[in-house]
Amino acid sequence: MHELSIAQAILDVASHHARGRRVAKVEVRVGHLRQVVPDSLDFAFSLLTPDTALEGCRLEITPVPAVGRCRACGAESPLECFPLSCLRCGGFDVHVLAGEELLVDALELEEEPLTNERVGHGSHV
Ligand SMILES: [Zn+2]
Repeated sequence: MHELSIAQAILDVASHHARGRRVAKVEVRVGHLRQVVPDSLDFAFSLLTPDTALEGCRLEITPVPAVGRCRACGAESPLECFPLSCLRCGGFDVHVLAGEELLVDALELEEEPLTNERVGHGSHV
């Protein structure tokens, strides 16, 4: 279950940014090509967070569709499944533009007032 290691990585990034503050919500962006099952990730997260700053924290998962550009014809296509191929010419030499990301996008920290802290351009997990 690779969701468990991903959940651990998200927990590490979020704890680092929270610097001891309690975290109410973590927003993550997960590319389609990471093949993460949101329910499994949510479950793995709930197993890891007790007794941490993220106990009871909500995990908001935003899926990112995959897009690729064909090196043969230059067309951009959505990438639905493996093997990745160009919709226009059927070629397999596709450069992935989006869909491989796994980012902690934002944290909502339990403070007065509640703040929503952006994590720069997102932190790669
Ligand atoms: Zn093509």
